[in-house]
Amino acid sequence: MAQLSPLLKQATPVVVDRGEGVYLYDVDGRRHLDFTAGIGVTSTGHCHPKVVAAAQEQVGKLIHGQYTTVMHQPLLKLTERLGDVLPAGLDSLFFANSGSEAVEAALRLSRQATGRPNVIVFQGGFHGRTVAAATMTTSGTRFSAGISPLMGGVHVAPFPYAYHYGWDEQTATEFCLRELDYLFATVSAPNETAAFFVEPVLGEGGYVPANTAFMQGLRARADEHGILLVLDEIQTGFGRTGKFWGHDHFGVRPDVVTIAKGLASGFPLSGIATSKELMAKAFPGSQGGTYGGNAVSCAAALATLDVIEEEGLVANAAARGRQLLEGARLVGDKTPGIGEVRGLGLLVGSEFTTADGKPDTATAQAAQQEAARRGLLLLTCGAYSNVVRMIPPLVVSAEQIDEALGIWGETVAAVTK
Ligand code: PMP
Repeated sequence: MAQLSPLLKQATPVVVDRGEGVYLYDVDGRRHLDFTAGIGVTSTGHCHPKVVAAAQEQVGKLIHGQYTTVMHQPLLKLTERLGDVLPAGLDSLFFANSGSEAVEAALRLSRQATGRPNVIVFQGGFHGRTVAAATMTTSGTRFSAGISPLMGGVHVAPFPYAYHYGWDEQTATEFCLRELDYLFATVSAPNETAAFFVEPVLGEGGYVPANTAFMQGLRARADEHGILLVLDEIQTGFGRTGKFWGHDHFGVRPDVVTIAKGLASGFPLSGIATSKELMAKAFPGSQGGTYGGNAVSCAAALATLDVIEEEGLVANAAARGRQLLEGARLVGDKTPGIGEVRGLGLLVGSEFTTADGKPDTATAQAAQQEAARRGLLLLTCGAYSNVVRMIPPLVVSAEQIDEALGIWGETVAAVTK
């Protein structure tokens, strides 16, 4: 009998039958409060009726039309619609399926547009699991384990993860920018550097928000040296952080953004957005694939954007995010084993640390298991998987946040007693 590869091993024993809003229902009919949202994907909630209706209508009309031969309406409409929400000047879009593909597309574009070989990524960043994206990923060693030789030309600069350094944010930021300049002076001269790839909030790396001084420091160096600032908004885009884009918190202008996850409520769809001038420098035929910009995914994305707007999900993410962060901080304050609680919008992480300040993976994972037993689904993140993260759908209500916080308080008390 065939069995699932252990590569698809799940963190909880839950087998899901259906989803509705913030809840998942398992095959035994038990209800679970889903504070994972399929890793930040189902922002409009599971099976939002508008998204379901749009997808169903599109399935009956056209499922797949391949853009090397024919164009289809959903792709054209989505492009136009995204123009309304993208940062000023990012008026050219390319579509793919997964986040990793979007990152690769941005990497290709950066090298082709600048003619420079190197990219600089930031410690703790996650950009995907295809080989190039895994090479650019440093949020854990497992993503590139056993697949060397990796892609060349990737250099890593530090990210202002103040708690990790044991410094305040300003000291951490000044250190990081100094190290970046040192990287320029040593291994990756500015005129050899095509792009910075950075997340507005380290996602898989532990839910560490960047800050304005750091992001503006990157922008200034990008401007000075003709380096492209690529913002990986795959986890932070579409309202997740309480503003439409993660980088809106820092007032920086990106040259390229990568998008996926919250874009299409669970249908596979990703892309990059940049200026027409930069996109014109991409080599024709070097990008793309069979499924990119799928018609049903695009229809679902159009409905998703409508729901985000009509239901005020960006404002809800901001308000519910504050409530969640405050509540998680109250739990953290009472718990010596939780070293820091941090986040931005509906991305909230609690970092578990031992009494001597080391990452406490065992307790974080025990908390994840215990919460699941109590009906709350959570994920872990961080290089040591010692950060428990909460990333509910953006439709989450104040009552559901309270319900989750209640379970979280009990869970933490149970696993740290
Ligand atoms: N970039 C970021 C910031 C991500 O969070 C992720 C997924 N967690 C990816 C890239 C990769 O996306 P995918 O898993 O769809 O390839």
